[in-house]
Amino acid sequence: MGLNLKRTMKNVAVDGARISASMGAGFVTRGVLREIQLDYEASPPGIRYPGDAKAATCISVDFDVTEPERYGPNGAGTQKLLELSEKYEIPLTWAICGKTAVEDQKSYQRILDSPVKQEIGIHTYSHMDAQKAGPAEYEEDIRKCLDALGLKSAPRTFIFPWNRENHFEVIRRMGFRTYRGKKRVIGPPDSSNGLWNERPVYYVDQKSYGAESLMIKYADLCAQTSAVFHLWTHPWSLVTAGDPDPMFRTLDPVFSHLREMKRRGDLAVCTMGDLADHFDAVGTTGMKPGSGS
Ligand SMILES: [Zn+2]
Repeated sequence: MGLNLKRTMKNVAVDGARISASMGAGFVTRGVLREIQLDYEASPPGIRYPGDAKAATCISVDFDVTEPERYGPNGAGTQKLLELSEKYEIPLTWAICGKTAVEDQKSYQRILDSPVKQEIGIHTYSHMDAQKAGPAEYEEDIRKCLDALGLKSAPRTFIFPWNRENHFEVIRRMGFRTYRGKKRVIGPPDSSNGLWNERPVYYVDQKSYGAESLMIKYADLCAQTSAVFHLWTHPWSLVTAGDPDPMFRTLDPVFSHLREMKRRGDLAVCTMGDLADHFDAVGTTGMKPGSGS
């Protein structure tokens, strides 16, 4: 299917979902979203996000270089993402691959030096596939990443390379509280595998060029249904033929819209770790986990 036809279909599906959401209390026609490989799960009534907001957004960025020609784009994309984060005061959640941080220290340091909150999450040391490695080998690679990054506080966010999920017991035991599942869902954080699965809604890459109005519609649909609008990307995937500007012209109005929604009190603008802390404390139904009947 051509890119334009796909985008038209997504626009039609999201418009349809927004209309159905406006008719009932967060009711959305699942079938329409299924056409664009997006699932929908209703949030518990009365769900509240940080700051008592009715919906939230988070943006996760996989900082990884697995092919040598991606070093330049990773650096350029990181710099531009930080500029956007700082311009609109929207925090980002970084999934740091340890090896990439060691090999591109300048970009990694730029993240640490940002005046706006940047959460450091873990993406293994060597971009290891959890479905190919055993649990001990996987744990060792995560420890190697932690040693390389030398963080002041224990990271709460874990992002699986290629979103290939496995070894939850190891992840939990190491103190992580949240991850980003593979499946795209509009809904609340899902308590699964002993962690909060903050499910992605939309992946941004070069193919998203010009899709600002579609991304804004997704954000509005999430706000209408008390869901988490979770965007994710890679710095290198925002750079086309060495030039980050086209994709950042697409992203600028999206960040601007998120800041405006935050200003109106419609959206908590969070890191993944912020959301995990909040729901660890209150649960998605406003009750502390285990404190209810
Ligand atoms: Zn990755």
